Amino acid sequence: MMTKELLKVTDLSIANVGPATPRPILKNLSLSVAESETLAILGRSGAGKSVLGRALMGWVDAPLGVTSGRITLEGQDVLGANPDALRRIRGTGIGYVGADPTRVFDPTLPVGRQIADKYRAVRPEVSAKEAMERVHELFSLVRIPEARHRMAELPSKYSGGMIQRAAIVDAMIGETKLVIADNVTQPLDVTVAAQIIRLFQDLRERLGTAFLFITSSVPTIKDFADRIVVMDQGEIVEEGPTPQLLAAPRTEASEKLIAQSPRIWGTTAPESLSAEDIRDMPPALSITALRRTYKVPRKDKLFGSVFVQAVRGADFDVYPGESLAIVGESGCGKSTLMRLLTWLEEPDDGSVQFHGKNVGSFTARERFDLRAQLQLVLQDPYGSIPAHWTIGRTISESLRLHSPLKGKARRARVEETMAEVGLDPALYDKLPSGLSAGQRQRINVARAIVLEPTVLLLDETFSALDPMEQTPLIELFRKLQRERSITCIFISHDLALVRRVASRVAVMYLGRIVEIGSNHNVFSRPLHPYTRALLSAAPTIEDSPYDPNECLVDGEPPSPIRLPKGCAFADRCPVAQEACMSSDPELMRASERSRVACHFPLAALEPASVKDAAHVG
Ligand code: SF4
Repeated sequence: MMTKELLKVTDLSIANVGPATPRPILKNLSLSVAESETLAILGRSGAGKSVLGRALMGWVDAPLGVTSGRITLEGQDVLGANPDALRRIRGTGIGYVGADPTRVFDPTLPVGRQIADKYRAVRPEVSAKEAMERVHELFSLVRIPEARHRMAELPSKYSGGMIQRAAIVDAMIGETKLVIADNVTQPLDVTVAAQIIRLFQDLRERLGTAFLFITSSVPTIKDFADRIVVMDQGEIVEEGPTPQLLAAPRTEASEKLIAQSPRIWGTTAPESLSAEDIRDMPPALSITALRRTYKVPRKDKLFGSVFVQAVRGADFDVYPGESLAIVGESGCGKSTLMRLLTWLEEPDDGSVQFHGKNVGSFTARERFDLRAQLQLVLQDPYGSIPAHWTIGRTISESLRLHSPLKGKARRARVEETMAEVGLDPALYDKLPSGLSAGQRQRINVARAIVLEPTVLLLDETFSALDPMEQTPLIELFRKLQRERSITCIFISHDLALVRRVASRVAVMYLGRIVEIGSNHNVFSRPLHPYTRALLSAAPTIEDSPYDPNECLVDGEPPSPIRLPKGCAFADRCPVAQEACMSSDPELMRASERSRVACHFPLAALEPASVKDAAHVG
């Protein structure tokens, strides 16, 4: 059956027309979207995708200007439309959802009323009551729980995933034929992002809406888009049906995007120490019943405060030379846990033992010395390095504080460390300006290891790096661990990275460790339903061994202020039973070096496609 063309872009060029010589941003773009079709605009950041997305809405603001071309929606000119026609196009023709949905809504008005008013502006024949009913219908369709109650609330009461759903309703309220979704899943946690993608698929099937999905992530659109248009430096470099383009890309830009996409299941996992290996080995770090609660002012009242339970009892041991990853979505407590481990913050309860000594009973001098032995590598490669210090000074600062080395000996140690992490020692007297994020992260690694610590804590250290920059740094850590037997604790939300670097994995949910085990067991035989949901939602270019229809969870975590009586995961858990509502499960031994906090752990799965060299043969 022939599908009707909905959107047509012909020879569109946009330039920054502010300077004397206009700088081209988009160059001679031509594309089309048919009714009910999903087209993905794929490209790395800076390719011009979002400028295109906004231009389709008629938003081309100074200093940008259209220098050639035409955009039509069902034959109607968008760029040349008068304000009334443009309002109608935006209300009933094209809707737009961006990465920051909070900007869609006025913070002082209830969300439902704002969307209903927008509907009536483009459909004046509809009564206020009918408009509210229509909003309610769409709120239910996008699965916003307690829809009527939510409609009456201000935007500030919505969680990240929920406000994104409300923004989708806002974009579709006028029975729009095409929705532009610009990086909509980027700021969301993986389980919520997976729900949003599933929602788009559902809306397309039920309402026949066409989507133009703008993203830099191949996994996000690989099962969703009918066709892909690849953009690079303001140009369309390739387009084609999704399966064909991904299987046989014809341009370097497409090849790079595909090559840099995360892979989990075909990756070799680091081997974990067995119970036998650690039988007589004292742990490097031992955490027992660690708790931290914060008192914060109430958001909904002028006075009073509430208690946020950030870490609700964490227990684990890490052995010399091991690499443990602590994973979980935002708000799960992993960053608080990191601050407790480094004693940047003291716990309310519980203990941290460092090589058998209780850090809580350390003297001030012992705590100062602990800093040399337990080093933190920070996340931000730009903000964490002083711009006005030479690279040598930045790396040698901790030696100045903690080591007797002086003068030439200190410089020699720093240069040796620079060489070890792959930095040219000739950079010693240079400022860091002009260095790439990867090079800067090497400076951070050098200053962390220059004192020869026994434990390194890495808080999202690789997050700011693209996959090309990540790989050599991961290799560097593997080498350091081999040669120096350093214990590493990674805090990360990136499961593809965790799969490559960690020998053991701890999964956190709402301040608790809900599962801990070897990399192999956690990835291929998850015991906790949340672990399995997290794995099935992880964006990866490979086919997942977990069926998202069975494993994905609905909803979002409850507030850490009002935790339920039983299991904190119960209202999202696909296998919850009566007992889960009343009793909170403890972290119990499941097998050798595996523990899980669940009354009904999942039966062991062994997806054939999960490769783990450590366990093959
Ligand atoms: S205890 Fe119950 S609700 Fe919690 S994860 Fe296990 S099965 Fe699900």
